[in-house]
Amino acid sequence: MVYLANHRAFEEIHNVDDPDYETVANAIMPDGESRIWNNAIMELGGVACGKKPRCDEASCPWREWCHAYQTGDFTAPEVPTQPSFEGSRRQMRGRVVKLLNEHGELQLDTLGHRVRVDYAPDGEYGREWLRGLLADLADDGLVDIEDGSEDTMVRLRS
Ligand code: SF4
Repeated sequence: MVYLANHRAFEEIHNVDDPDYETVANAIMPDGESRIWNNAIMELGGVACGKKPRCDEASCPWREWCHAYQTGDFTAPEVPTQPSFEGSRRQMRGRVVKLLNEHGELQLDTLGHRVRVDYAPDGEYGREWLRGLLADLADDGLVDIEDGSEDTMVRLRS
């Protein structure tokens, strides 16, 4: 759902291969507001911008500048299916390490959204899946996971 809303609203995201979806999705995320942004866009996807967008019925707040709403082109590709290697655990582990290397530390869901376009906290590829991946990386001595009262933060082990 996050993918659909992003794709419909931002013209820049239409060609997801060059640059890739992750790069564009990261670029449009407001600095320092990733957690709020991710929560808001997940809510938007759940309430308004699902497979069949409910722009007016749900009073979507993005209508005044949403590319799809303004052009009437609501087509959006399905969430990309990942070939077996693309979606492999090994590749996901590599992606986690690369992201933590770039950002220092990331909040759990923020990391999840950057690792997979189809990440959804309670979904098949959600927190449980990500925690399993991170537990393996922690066992290998690569990452530290810190469960705080409000957030779970993940960083590379120094
Ligand atoms: S205006 Fe419609 S298409 Fe655009 S983000 Fe909102 S619900 Fe989705």
